[in-house]
Amino acid sequence: MSKSTLVSKDLGLETNVKDVKDCNNYYLTLGVFEDIKDAIDKAIYAQKKLTIRYTKKDREKFIDAIRKATLKNKEKLAEMVLEETKMGRYEDKILKHELVAKYTPGTEDLVTTAWTGNKGLTVVEMAPYGVIGAITPSTNPTETVICNSIGMIAAGNAVVFNGHPGAKQSVAFAVKMINKAVVSCGGPENLVTTVKNPTMETLDVIIKHKAIKLLCGTGGPGMVKTLLKSGKKVIGAGAGNPPVIVDDTADIENAAKNIIEGCSFDNNLPCIAEKEVFVFENVADKLINNMLQNKAIIINKNQTSKLLDLVLQKKAETLEYTINKKWVGKDAKLFLDKIGVKAPCDVKCIICEVDAKHPFVMTELMMPILPIVRVKDIDEAIEDAKAAEQNKKHSAYMYSRNIDNLNRFENEIDTTIFVRNAKSFAGVGYGAEGFTTFTIAGATGEGITSARNFTRQRRCVLAG
Ligand code: NAD
Repeated sequence: MSKSTLVSKDLGLETNVKDVKDCNNYYLTLGVFEDIKDAIDKAIYAQKKLTIRYTKKDREKFIDAIRKATLKNKEKLAEMVLEETKMGRYEDKILKHELVAKYTPGTEDLVTTAWTGNKGLTVVEMAPYGVIGAITPSTNPTETVICNSIGMIAAGNAVVFNGHPGAKQSVAFAVKMINKAVVSCGGPENLVTTVKNPTMETLDVIIKHKAIKLLCGTGGPGMVKTLLKSGKKVIGAGAGNPPVIVDDTADIENAAKNIIEGCSFDNNLPCIAEKEVFVFENVADKLINNMLQNKAIIINKNQTSKLLDLVLQKKAETLEYTINKKWVGKDAKLFLDKIGVKAPCDVKCIICEVDAKHPFVMTELMMPILPIVRVKDIDEAIEDAKAAEQNKKHSAYMYSRNIDNLNRFENEIDTTIFVRNAKSFAGVGYGAEGFTTFTIAGATGEGITSARNFTRQRRCVLAG
């Protein structure tokens, strides 16, 4: 059996690469290189080929193949990511891969604007940047690679990924899967590339490379800051800490169920997941009781302080809290065992009552721990929710039947995503209208990114 057949069998894909020598070289790497300079050079060549030899319709064919490959490999991808990162929940990771495969926009997202009249014709097209440098997180490593690849290829680009070192094997697998899918329907090799060992040094080469005009970073604030110092165009998708307000007009059963489902999804890894709740005091007991019927467990003050010591560390110099990364994305049962609380095996979320300034409220934990704060009215709820969101311009949620309260919170919190009476994932098209993304650029304002955000405007004029 030839090497190409072996690799394609491994990935569950067929290939039509004909040249055996080329094919063997290609299948040795499948877009994953030892040296970052090779990864960039190959992507530059691939992108040139893409623009010269292929049409927009071809790009759509490649994207369709990527979607199919993702759906075919969704269990394998979920398993690999869980195995490598040790964070999150297998079944939720399968769902995230389904979401990204089905609902990430392709070339249909690109629109051309035209003006016609007595003086001629002017057209503004969405043109590619060329090669994009993309930085991806450990929390959605393969989902982000697939989502970015679909959007960036749809827009006519190639992409070089610098994934999180803690998820490098999963990122390499996704890159290989994407290249296999593209080549299997006649596309160019290496439209998507990466390095075996991504580091800060490889990222630095990407940032400084002359051919890379656009950087797209998905992850925490340190990374976004680094990219913004590059002097290049940056799409920065940074951290969130999404608050939820529940007022006394809300459907409390619906709120409790949705909040627990959203907060515990993939053990709270997604940046959009519900991170803290502000509830009107006259409906707080009812909300908590309903949460307890949805696989949540409540812990007391003493247990809450034990949990704090376990998952947060105080920096001596600044007295700021930082998360103990060892606990990110772990199952609720593990925390409870550690602090000596008995709980059923299927417990999904730990709730605790705290004040508005508690470190669990103010810190993005990415753990299935949900602090709940009682508030007296909408003024206090909005003030506290804004303080918790910290102007990250990311996401916020509200359960209410009071239109004035809903409108006021939406305007005042001014986040990229605002969901009314549904869980966080509705904000990225799950169980709701609208497309999906795994790169929510609140920091730089592109918002729910899609193919069009990876394009430049190009004007073509026919005068007279
Ligand atoms: P992280 O910031 O530790 O890592 C993200 C990426 O940036 C990785 O590739 C990492 O190697 C790199 N990186 C880390 N520090 C860097 C620095 N100082 N300079 C340059 N690069 C650096 O984040 P993570 O733990 O992998 O992911 C979780 C974080 O990402 C959370 O804060 C979450 O809210 C955020 N996130 C945001 C979005 C979004 O769309 N806005 C999506 C997913 C995750």
